[in-house]
Amino acid sequence: MDCLFCKIINGDIPSTKVYENEYVFAFKDINPNAKVHVLVVPKKHIDSIDCADPSNICDIAKVIEAIPVVAKECGLANGYRVITNVGEDGGQSVKHLHFHILGGEKLPVKLA
Ligand code: AMP
Ligand code: ZN
Repeated sequence: MDCLFCKIINGDIPSTKVYENEYVFAFKDINPNAKVHVLVVPKKHIDSIDCADPSNICDIAKVIEAIPVVAKECGLANGYRVITNVGEDGGQSVKHLHFHILGGEKLPVKLA
């Protein structure tokens, strides 16, 4: 499958890894929007959170479980924001489910 994040997970494309376990991979965003900007993804390819169903919910839960671990690893003791974009209107540019972790500073612009 021609998926950028699958290639990153497989090591075919380099990334700056910050965390990995059997189900989850986390790496620095190449174009950071905050002092700390990390992407947390399932190793299993899932297009987006819109595809959540009983067959993949355990993989998605593993990603959510990893988020506070990654945040701690990144020193985000003062808080952070988690975002997942979905589809065209949501501004999703890479069609492999990923959660952005943003922090390391007071974040601007709250949409929700
Ligand atoms: P989204 O727009 O929500 O789909 O997020 C995709 C994110 O992937 C963007 O924040 C990009 O900066 C990031 N990105 C794209 N290519 C790479 C790459 N090779 N390594 C790390 N992050 C990337
Ligand atoms: Zn993928």
